[in-house]
Amino acid sequence: MTAPHVPHPIHRGPHPSMAPGFVPPPPPPNVKQDAAFAVRFLGTGTSTGVPLIGCPCAVCQSADPRDRRLRSSLMVRLGGRVLIVDTGPDFRGQCLRHRVPRVDAVFITHAHADHIFGFDDLRRFNTLQGNAVIPCYAGPATLAALHRVFPYISQKRNAQGLYRPLIDFIPATVPFEALGARLTPLPVVHGDIETLGLRIDFAGRALAYLPDVHVIPEATLAQMRGLDLLILNMLRPRPHPTHLALGRALAYAARIAARRTLLTHLSHDYTHAQLLPHLPPTVTPAHDGLALTLA
Ligand SMILES: [Zn+2]
Ligand SMILES: [Zn+2]
Ligand SMILES: [Zn+2]
Repeated sequence: MTAPHVPHPIHRGPHPSMAPGFVPPPPPPNVKQDAAFAVRFLGTGTSTGVPLIGCPCAVCQSADPRDRRLRSSLMVRLGGRVLIVDTGPDFRGQCLRHRVPRVDAVFITHAHADHIFGFDDLRRFNTLQGNAVIPCYAGPATLAALHRVFPYISQKRNAQGLYRPLIDFIPATVPFEALGARLTPLPVVHGDIETLGLRIDFAGRALAYLPDVHVIPEATLAQMRGLDLLILNMLRPRPHPTHLALGRALAYAARIAARRTLLTHLSHDYTHAQLLPHLPPTVTPAHDGLALTLA
């Protein structure tokens, strides 16, 4: 005989996060509360993540938390608002770990799986933000790929109400204003698909984020002058057909000459500690959770 179903008290009534006046959790620690312009690395790993599944190497077995690299993603605080660059397969866990308080806009660099497969989890932020539509900026080919991979997102709401992200897809081809910042799409070469880096100018400071790049065209280099922070792809020591390896990443870093350069989209070829001695003083590896305030 089966006992009658009695609803557990925890399931009664609307969830507290739906209540009027609900305030989302506070921003993560070690970003200044009043910081106008700050970044936090949600992930700094290459497409596999580090450790790799089933890999016995010293990097994958490292006990140093800086060697645990989720798929690359960046949270940018612009005043009280939050821009997310890329929503990879780890996006939900990254939001939980780093207590991402809200998402006011998204920029997608390109449509490889390690940058878009968490896109559906944006729907939670629609709910948290009163069903506000979230703008998503990307190049036209990347937007077309997002529509192919997540066709239900752009469908009209059906009678039952399809639970899906509410997104305003906006092509990014030229510099534009969003969240009070100037955002400049930076076309770069990364294999044979359309890929963008992103320059952000806000509160008198500037950063550029290029997680997946093999070649930076001259026209793009010309758009990267006067950077306070450069965040640049550095996959591994050996050359790779679609990513920057150490030597060329450092050559670009020297030429771009940002005040500070951080390396991201890292493989399992170096521990954080092993990489440090190979780098000049203004260049360091990023790691998951690293937070910096620009202004
Ligand atoms: Zn990638
Ligand atoms: Zn490994
Ligand atoms: Zn890629």
